[in-house]
Amino acid sequence: MKSDTAKTAVLQEETRIFNTPQWIIEHSNSYQWMKNKGFKTENEMRKWCSDNYIEFWDEMARTFVDWFKPYTQILDDSEKPHYKWFTGGKVNVAYNAVDRHAHSEKRNKVAYYFVGEPVGDAKAITYYQLYREVNRLANALKSVGVEKGDRVVTYLPMIPEQPITMLACAKIGAIHTLVFSGFSSGGLASRVNDAEAKVVVTADGFYRRGKPLPLKPNVDEALKNSPSVKKVIVVKRTGVSVPMTEGRDVYYDDFVAGQSTKCETVPLDPEDRLFILYTSGTTGKPKGIEHAHGGYAVGAAQTTSWVLDVHDDDVYWCTADAGWITGHSYVIYGPLILGASSILYEGSPDFPDLGRWWSIIEEYGVSVFYSAPTAVRMFMKSGEEFVKKYDLSSIRILASVGEPLNPEAYMWFRKNIGSDQAPIMDTWWQTETGCHVVAPLAMTPEKPGSVCFPLPGMNTDIYDEDANSVPLGYGGNIVQTAPWPSMLRAFFRDEIRYKKEYWDMYWQVKPGTYLAGDKATRDKDGYWWIQGRIDDVLKVAGHRISNAEVESAAVSHPKVAEAAVIGEPDEVKGEKIVAFIILKEGVVEEESLKKDISTHVRKVLGPVAYPDKVYFVKDVPKTRSGKIMRRVIKAKALGKDTGDVSALSNPEAVSSIPQIN
Ligand code: ATP
Ligand code: MG
Repeated sequence: MKSDTAKTAVLQEETRIFNTPQWIIEHSNSYQWMKNKGFKTENEMRKWCSDNYIEFWDEMARTFVDWFKPYTQILDDSEKPHYKWFTGGKVNVAYNAVDRHAHSEKRNKVAYYFVGEPVGDAKAITYYQLYREVNRLANALKSVGVEKGDRVVTYLPMIPEQPITMLACAKIGAIHTLVFSGFSSGGLASRVNDAEAKVVVTADGFYRRGKPLPLKPNVDEALKNSPSVKKVIVVKRTGVSVPMTEGRDVYYDDFVAGQSTKCETVPLDPEDRLFILYTSGTTGKPKGIEHAHGGYAVGAAQTTSWVLDVHDDDVYWCTADAGWITGHSYVIYGPLILGASSILYEGSPDFPDLGRWWSIIEEYGVSVFYSAPTAVRMFMKSGEEFVKKYDLSSIRILASVGEPLNPEAYMWFRKNIGSDQAPIMDTWWQTETGCHVVAPLAMTPEKPGSVCFPLPGMNTDIYDEDANSVPLGYGGNIVQTAPWPSMLRAFFRDEIRYKKEYWDMYWQVKPGTYLAGDKATRDKDGYWWIQGRIDDVLKVAGHRISNAEVESAAVSHPKVAEAAVIGEPDEVKGEKIVAFIILKEGVVEEESLKKDISTHVRKVLGPVAYPDKVYFVKDVPKTRSGKIMRRVIKAKALGKDTGDVSALSNPEAVSSIPQIN
């Protein structure tokens, strides 16, 4: 294989650096650990933890997780690429997330401030209350024959029954599979059938933008051909009447009625599966990723503490839906294992108006806020009017995940939401990795748009096609060169695809190298820049150019709100750069502006990144998790088959993409 990554150079060097205020650094969990250990610098600490990753994760496993029985071996790598962590021990995530807090001085502490979408519909749930509810549901699940290893699908809005169901499953060793409630019946059916679920937990409906919408009818449609499902449990959320199938369907309140509020938590092997989660499906058919109790608990809790810097007295809010990995690790398990207080918000960011999130931050005094670039750009598009109405001074830490946080979006987020002082933890990671992999810590001087460095305990590198680590200033494939506790364990019933997708690429040269599927570069200071998916990276005149970098350059034009960039095949150059642009509100679409945007990109990145074609669009297709679907945009623009787009959050946006050839 011949390497061509030498040409994947960094086009633009970011020169802005933001230092976190000293009090935030000194208050941070990671800094305190570093000082206690006697490390002089952040670099020295990051390096030691990754070089000595087995020793490091051993300490983290003892710090963050209680074991029913101590493990005897930290890592078993005898069956690569299936790694086992904390062998010989006994553990259960539910014990760590709920039971132990319910029996400590934290018992009356709030686990979740539930905020429903209808204004004023809110309630607080303490750890003790959560414990009782989890136990009742766990007993009820057992009463209908749910056993260790059985799969339970949830198809729920962001209401308290979502974490309760996940924890009840964990408690008895059942495996949960969350399906995002925005999916259609088709998306639900394929996941229910792939997982061969025994039980589905859903709701009659949910609130979205002020309206109660039905949910249960989707389940009935989806289960027409799902012989594995024996019970459907229906939470009454909106009170609309829904059809109930006799013998199969039961209301949640009736299901748990009379059940004991005590239930034994099963001590499990650390490798016993906690959940199967299907990826967002940005690059194609979603994959059923398996995660295990022991290692996952360690990774989720440790990063919630070190990266998000959640403390005991914080009010923490991650806006992700529980149905994505971010929701699993950072709405449910990470914060609960730490015994933190979190917001659980049911609705959309713009109901009743664009100030809803900021009003929640003000009202609850949220101090750590974790969201996504797609949301930041949406708020940027409509200006600061709503932000200015609220007091957001409680915010100490901001964080972002899902897509590259464009430097302009970083600046806006920091200034308007972070009171110009909060650092932004731009966290790169995946469903597969289970927890953050490359990210700043509170102490890290930040460059806007960079995810900074691989985290302590992670052995993350950038390889060329021949498995050489690329020098600073160049780019290539993101890899993990050593295992980590919260890594995926397998693909549900698809061993071939598991090996092919992640492990085959470098197996001959360096067996055990995990291929993440994204590209990144490191600048001369060693800062990491995510370039996008391997398949999305543009090849122009012998250069590999990051779609993310071109999009960020376009977004830095004062009139641009959002940009999606694709490559159009070109006989001379290999690929021509084509940009689809969403303008900020109130900006008039003018031909001359197209040229202006291309010129702006050239000024920022150089002539090789010049977009040959610019189109104004009202919207771009996105996944339900808010990621731009470049694959679909490209197919539509080039007049090819876009495939099934029903799983998109806005399938109608596909028609707004013009055919360009
Ligand atoms: P599929 O694997 O089915 O295509 P997906 O990759 O979109 O779906 P997720 O696991 O939810 O599903 O998303 C992980 C991906 O999101 C990463 O591989 C990366 O491409 C992108 N991503 C996540 N965080 C960041 C970040 N901070 N900066 C840039 N990209 C990010
Ligand atoms: Mg992926």
